[in-house]
Amino acid sequence: MLKKIIIADHHGFCMGVKRAINIAEETARQETGRVTILNEIVHNEAVVDKFNRQGVGQAFSVDDVNEGTLIISAHGIAPGIIESARAKRLKVIDATCPLVSRIYTIINKIVSNGYHVIHYGDPNHDETHGIVGHAPDHITVVSSREELLSLPDWQDRKLGLTVQTTAHLEHFADVEKLAKEKWPHIEIFNTICNATTKRQNAIMDLAPQVEIVLVVGSKSSANSRRLVRISEAICGRGILIGSAADIDADWFAERGKVEAVGISAGASTPDFLVDEVIERLVEISGGRARVIRPGKKSRITKTARSTQ
Ligand code: SF4
Repeated sequence: MLKKIIIADHHGFCMGVKRAINIAEETARQETGRVTILNEIVHNEAVVDKFNRQGVGQAFSVDDVNEGTLIISAHGIAPGIIESARAKRLKVIDATCPLVSRIYTIINKIVSNGYHVIHYGDPNHDETHGIVGHAPDHITVVSSREELLSLPDWQDRKLGLTVQTTAHLEHFADVEKLAKEKWPHIEIFNTICNATTKRQNAIMDLAPQVEIVLVVGSKSSANSRRLVRISEAICGRGILIGSAADIDADWFAERGKVEAVGISAGASTPDFLVDEVIERLVEISGGRARVIRPGKKSRITKTARSTQ
């Protein structure tokens, strides 16, 4: 029987996502012409749908936008795409997270000093496309330790290692160690963002206390998927859910022993989705589960609403 619902100390919207949403909302309010977001403003369907309902368009290529204002998402973009947009006389509003822009600054600086960059990240992620676009001839992307180890000898080359903001902390620590062994002269730039670090550390604290961790987030959210994998490795079961509607009450009944469930959420997940998940779990427990929130671990409550 479900007795405890423990919420991760750090979860949900990060600074960069809040900022991008505020910029997009402000732009939609101020502009009289057509407003289009390039790619998903953040990787969450509920947020994307909300903008669609407000009449803000969405495009995945500048080729599909011919007028008005173009908003760049929190994940950033290659400078060449901004130039193409301006060439089409689009007004560009840049909502790139400052912690992604920081990687652009590092790369521009070291590449101008003759470095080649090895970037550890998902080659298909929007953030990686934007990063590579800043110095396409001077960056090699690797997404695993095997890919890193298969790179050329490069002993006579100045090298820098950067990393996707939402990378797995322990995987990057491993990659960093291997890189230093292979190229003792490599310079390491740990560009994993603070929000990622806090959310992953919080999951590592939470997972040993529960039998299942539910991570609220979209399938397209890399940081949400990573929180699931960390949970699985620690407590044996991590499940990614888009909303409360995805919860199957049998998850808790089938083992008969699930007494504690943990909840976290990706950096692009709005709070209301997490609140709905808590309410659904309290309902499944017949109103008997305690909801233990960040910083209030001793507080015992009967329902989710009573803790708000
Ligand atoms: S996860 Fe980190 S880098 Fe990405 S938007 Fe949030 S704060 Fe910025």
